[in-house]
Amino acid sequence: ESIIQPQATDAERAAESALRPKQLEEFVGQPKLRKQLQLVLEAAKLRGACADHILLSGPPGLGKTTLAMIVASEMGSALRLTSGPAIQHAGDLASILSSLQEGDVLFIDEIHRLARPAEEMLYLAMEDFRVDVVVGKGPGATSIPLTLPPFTVVGATTRSGLLPAPLRDRFGYTGHLEYYEHDELEKIVVRSARLLDADLEPAAALELARRSRGTPRIANRLLRRVSDYAQVHGNGVISLASAHAALELFEVDPYGLDRLDRMVLEGIIHRFNGGPVGLSTLAMSIGEEPETVETVSEPYLVREGFLSRTPRGRIATASAWKHLGLSMPADLLS
Ligand code: ADP
Repeated sequence: ESIIQPQATDAERAAESALRPKQLEEFVGQPKLRKQLQLVLEAAKLRGACADHILLSGPPGLGKTTLAMIVASEMGSALRLTSGPAIQHAGDLASILSSLQEGDVLFIDEIHRLARPAEEMLYLAMEDFRVDVVVGKGPGATSIPLTLPPFTVVGATTRSGLLPAPLRDRFGYTGHLEYYEHDELEKIVVRSARLLDADLEPAAALELARRSRGTPRIANRLLRRVSDYAQVHGNGVISLASAHAALELFEVDPYGLDRLDRMVLEGIIHRFNGGPVGLSTLAMSIGEEPETVETVSEPYLVREGFLSRTPRGRIATASAWKHLGLSMPADLLS
């Protein structure tokens, strides 16, 4: 497990839930999405109805689960949480759907990973508030149509393009989450430090923001490690110096690159003369899973201009050579 991975580890979920904003007001950043969502919720409240189904798309760690919880709390509704991979059979979904109460918010994380039969059941339920429950097994099984009370689905996906059109069309509102700016991440760590009762100096807050890859989950995780460090090696105050020392210990560099990112760049440069090299060859050469390289490391390296993806494979850019203190050979500069 890497300190810069955007997905949460199981162990970290409790720590995370303590830091979740509870109201839309408290949610930092994403100004456009926040305004749109506020309108959708206000309008539903005025009508005295459930909110439209809401789809949230964006990379992991940017606040989709948090927003689903906020939707439920703003609507004064109960929240049910599940995920695409957790629903193995359509029957699993049928039992969730048939237990919903009027006004409930059903959060489905990784909704693009629902199996086809569950997906079809879901869009019927979303559109007509109806589900067919199968009773019994084998030839004697019968299907009983059941009417559901009105409810709101909040779906989360890393890319809305991954959803089949019929499902995507059932959502009345789709919000896109963008990576956060440094000043927004700074506000997030300052708020988290306050909740954790940690003494965070402003310069250290900015430094954490810069190294968090635009991702609140990573910002909060770095804050926890830096706070540990300040407690063990000092008087608990997180100064710029203690933040630097802690980040060095965890091998997170000034650009937010960690060991894995540097291994990727060094691999391309030293073993494949800067590329192009295919993803699986590259991953194998550094002893990592292709999926880890592709989902944890690459998106940020591409976004920061250290790596480019071409049809022939991955290439380390001139900035990557420079970042590693190397100069790019003249014949590669073109
Ligand atoms: P996702 O579901 O997109 O993977 P989460 O909603 O689980 O992300 O957020 C990850 C962590 O980051 C949570 O601890 C949450 O409190 C924090 N977080 C995310 N977005 C914000 C935000 N806009 N303001 C404050 N904290 C945030």
